[in-house]
Amino acid sequence: MKKNKAIFLDRDGVINNEESNYYIFRTEDFFLNEGLAEALKELSRRGYIFIVITNQGGISKNLYSSADVEKVHEKLNQLLAGFGVHLEEIYYCPHHSDEENCLCRKPKNLTIEKAIARFNIDREKSWLVGDRDTDIEAGKLSGLKTIKVKSNENMRFLSELIVD
Ligand SMILES: [Mg+2]
Ligand SMILES: [Zn+2]
Repeated sequence: MKKNKAIFLDRDGVINNEESNYYIFRTEDFFLNEGLAEALKELSRRGYIFIVITNQGGISKNLYSSADVEKVHEKLNQLLAGFGVHLEEIYYCPHHSDEENCLCRKPKNLTIEKAIARFNIDREKSWLVGDRDTDIEAGKLSGLKTIKVKSNENMRFLSELIVD
């Protein structure tokens, strides 16, 4: 079976603007970064699938709940559907950095590995886009090509930077 080429995306700062709050957990604070949907639409035409991997340590700190995160993700899926863009899966780590038993918080790459197995992804043809060093580190651990963007910038350039 032919393997899929994928783009792994960090959420806050990459997909959505996080300038208003350190933690984004209200749907009314959730806005796509400029150019993001357009870039994904073009990349989807080129055959890429999309997986989101996000650290949501605010859950563990009881600042917000999994239900809040899921509502935000519903809004994300709706916004992208308006552009004809589909996300295969949104994975989130609910733990914070002091929790020793977490295997999913970036820079750990277990979640990326799970997605690679589940969606039959060709890591050599796949990319990770993040705005922090911990994102990039996780991508490199899984042998992905990586792109570090500036938080909240216009993401339209991604479809040009990502070469097949
Ligand atoms: Mg980020
Ligand atoms: Zn975790």
